[in-house]
Amino acid sequence: MEGGRLAGEGLGGRETPVTLAKGLIERIGETGGDAADHTAALRQVMESIDLSDLDAIGHRVVHGGSVFSAATVIDDDVVATIEGLVPLAPLHNPAALSGIAVARKLLPDVPQVAVFDTAFHLTIAPEGVTYAIDAELAAAWQIRRYGFHGTSHAYVARKTAALLGRPAKETNVITLHLGNGASACAVQGGRSVATSMGMSPLSGLVMGTRSGDLDPTVIFHLHRVAGLPIEEIERSLTRSAGLQGLTGANDMREIQRRREQGDPAATLAFAVYSRRIREYVGSYLALLGHAHAITFTAGVGENSPSIRAESLHGMSALGIEIDESRNTRGDRLISPDAARVKVCVIPTDEELEIAEETRKALVS
Ligand code: AMP
Repeated sequence: MEGGRLAGEGLGGRETPVTLAKGLIERIGETGGDAADHTAALRQVMESIDLSDLDAIGHRVVHGGSVFSAATVIDDDVVATIEGLVPLAPLHNPAALSGIAVARKLLPDVPQVAVFDTAFHLTIAPEGVTYAIDAELAAAWQIRRYGFHGTSHAYVARKTAALLGRPAKETNVITLHLGNGASACAVQGGRSVATSMGMSPLSGLVMGTRSGDLDPTVIFHLHRVAGLPIEEIERSLTRSAGLQGLTGANDMREIQRRREQGDPAATLAFAVYSRRIREYVGSYLALLGHAHAITFTAGVGENSPSIRAESLHGMSALGIEIDESRNTRGDRLISPDAARVKVCVIPTDEELEIAEETRKALVS
């Protein structure tokens, strides 16, 4: 659950929300975690911030299926619909539902809004979300690309347009959210037209512990030939793959340190990670026809000059270049002034965007 508190004069009163407090409660319900359950976790939040001026609560919900194309005020029907989507996101939606149930119980008079990671991507055309599998099976089991990290991609695409001094509606951006989870998105005039995550957050880029794209035959092979149960294959591809699988470490800082010392596994992992980004950038340039900017965000994207440089290396014929001193200095704009495609680094702020989406849902 994310608590989005809007500053100042109440709903609609202020254009730019300000963050008043930030916090994290981790490993809820686990031994040694911060809280025994979601009720205890929310009580901790309520004790640590001033709730007297609270206008609304925004909940991050990972999977909104094909149903929710925007942030939605929560009522019993909305809760039931999110419950119906649990089979699509068995690892993520139940936690959001616990947060919603507890917040509604403890703060029954405060409006609650669900903000979906998938909603931003419902603008992608059918050919961008349809898997070429048996159409009846796909329809019966809601199998299609949904895409995730929508709040982050929407936020940084808008911030990129602002940085470039362009109207968002006339700006094409390739956004690269490179955190522990990672995804790429092609944003055309403020709308998502392609994204790398699929039916689940497992596909696309290489991540901290997730594989990203692979041939589905890998799964059949691990099951039939290696004899692994399906649950173990799922665990391996989500928890023990990506950087973790390639090197035993899921933190890009550690990979970079080992690579500098000449470690072959870390060197390969760094190259696999950057190459996958490069392949998506190339494919999204082709889809968009023209990109005004490529924007890096999240833990790795905001903090790793070497991943940024390696991912976009050798693309000057496409108008893409990085100015090395701007890149290492931590500038927002890291391409040379004359570059056709601007390269930007924009810190994401998913909580702020959730607060903003919550405000919009309540005033609309
Ligand atoms: P996030 O999910 O956005 O919080 O990103 C977390 C990840 O960002 C970590 O697992 C690290 O791999 C990566 N990260 C954070 N700081 C740095 C850094 N200075 N250099 C490289 N990677 C970093």
